[in-house]
Amino acid sequence: MTAAVFFERDGLLNLCETQQGRPMSPLRLDQFHVNRAAAPLLARLKRMGFLLIGTTNQPAVARGEVTRDELRLMHDLLHRELMVDDVMICPHDDETHPCHKPQPGMFLEAAFRWRLDMEWSFVISNKWEDAKAAQALGCTSVMIESPWLGDDPHDFVVPDFPAAIAKIEYLATTLRRKRRAV
Ligand SMILES: [Zn+2]
Repeated sequence: MTAAVFFERDGLLNLCETQQGRPMSPLRLDQFHVNRAAAPLLARLKRMGFLLIGTTNQPAVARGEVTRDELRLMHDLLHRELMVDDVMICPHDDETHPCHKPQPGMFLEAAFRWRLDMEWSFVISNKWEDAKAAQALGCTSVMIESPWLGDDPHDFVVPDFPAAIAKIEYLATTLRRKRRAV
């Protein structure tokens, strides 16, 4: 079984502008800026054996504001520059849709596709929707401080992206040691 680290795409894997207090998803490739500072952090997780999977709600697809081809080009960049293995998309403009975060459908699809062990997997995000999905799936959530954490339960809150990686390194090695001991 494989474990994954899931990342909320916008603001973590790509840099994001904020409009009216909410991060805006880029609609065109030329607006899509990879967060290059994340590359060495993601490489550390990769060396630990984690798959790296982005997740993103993209209601702009259903609204016709962005095409799947454009998204594919953006996600190719994440694959090439950050070694991201997969990016899951909810293309529906419907907050109750089973694959629209906070619903866990996108994560379940990834779990099926990659045969993931969710109990050993982690979610890193700066938004409450991911913590809620993680809780439903038994993944550990590591939340980066932001205005969008809400009141939903989450496992850990850390000040920044490097601290999130350090937390996962610590937890994963501690858990492994414990499992070997029993
Ligand atoms: Zn959906």
